[in-house]
Amino acid sequence: MKLSDFFAPGQLGLSYELFPPKTERGEELLREQLRQLTEFAPDFVTCTYGAGGSTQGKTLEILCQVQADCRLPVASHLTVVGQTVEQLREYLERARDQGISYIVALRGDPPAGSEKFQATPGGLRFASELVELIRGEFPDFGILVAGYPETHREATSGQADIDNLRRKVDAGADVIVTQLFYDNADFFRFVEQCRRAGIEKPVVPGVLPVTSLSQIRRISSMCGARLPEGLVAQLERRDDPQWQFEVGVEWATRQCEELISAGIPGLHFYVLNQSPATLRILTDLKAEELRGN
Ligand code: FAD
Repeated sequence: MKLSDFFAPGQLGLSYELFPPKTERGEELLREQLRQLTEFAPDFVTCTYGAGGSTQGKTLEILCQVQADCRLPVASHLTVVGQTVEQLREYLERARDQGISYIVALRGDPPAGSEKFQATPGGLRFASELVELIRGEFPDFGILVAGYPETHREATSGQADIDNLRRKVDAGADVIVTQLFYDNADFFRFVEQCRRAGIEKPVVPGVLPVTSLSQIRRISSMCGARLPEGLVAQLERRDDPQWQFEVGVEWATRQCEELISAGIPGLHFYVLNQSPATLRILTDLKAEELRGN
């Protein structure tokens, strides 16, 4: 199925993002979680590539398992970090041969220990160049790219970041998935800026439910997401994991309700191999009814 079909007007697309587990036990747990998550009939599942030190080779392996176990279309994330164009081509060939339908085309973050992204000799500099490579040589892949409601931290300005997104779309991206955010006003402003810049592709909000204060402080310092004072104040009220989980789920559920009322084309959950929060939110939203399943 074409990516755009999941996010067509009147639809509420649903996708989950996983990362490759590092141990066999992690793989078993992931299989169990997927059994529950697939009850909400997601349209596709994505798996990160080299993010946070995860091994790149495992991405395709996990996706092949998801395809076989869940009979769902899958998307491989792919970054240009540390790779020549030839190596990127080889990866894309392998992905195509293994029946992967979609690619989340990314530049990637600098490897651990480096402050700044450095292009590999013989490699690419920007995600837009990867989109160009895929569209030109692997036209059957659907392509997703990243968008930043709070502006990418390296961008020289908000407008420069939107101009970059426009380059990715002009190069052939089908769908934009956003970085996580906790204030819907940032998302709505971003979508408006996209439309003003002539970007008409679906913009799908990325949702990462907070499950603890320490988790969210770590993640937001990595990706630069702003934490609203009201959310932090509620989380700080009790140093109790169950309390913080409930606060995070409640916040994300309210966020999703407002986004859905505003007519978003779909939801992308950063499940990141921790399914309980996503399962609770989808249950509380009555997602099956909303999606007409
Ligand atoms: P780009 O779109 O290339 O942008 C990078 C920066 O360069 C931006 O500041 C942009 O404004 C600027 N820029 C782009 N083009 C130009 C130009 N021509 N001239 C000047 N400036 C330019 N990381 C991983 O390592 N693995 C993953 O699996 C992964 N999955 C992700 C999934 C999603 C949905 C999101 C939102 C992010 C993900 N990331 C992942 C993180 C991502 O790799 C980082 O945010 C990275 O820093 C930027 O990647 P990008 O694809 O947005 O880069």
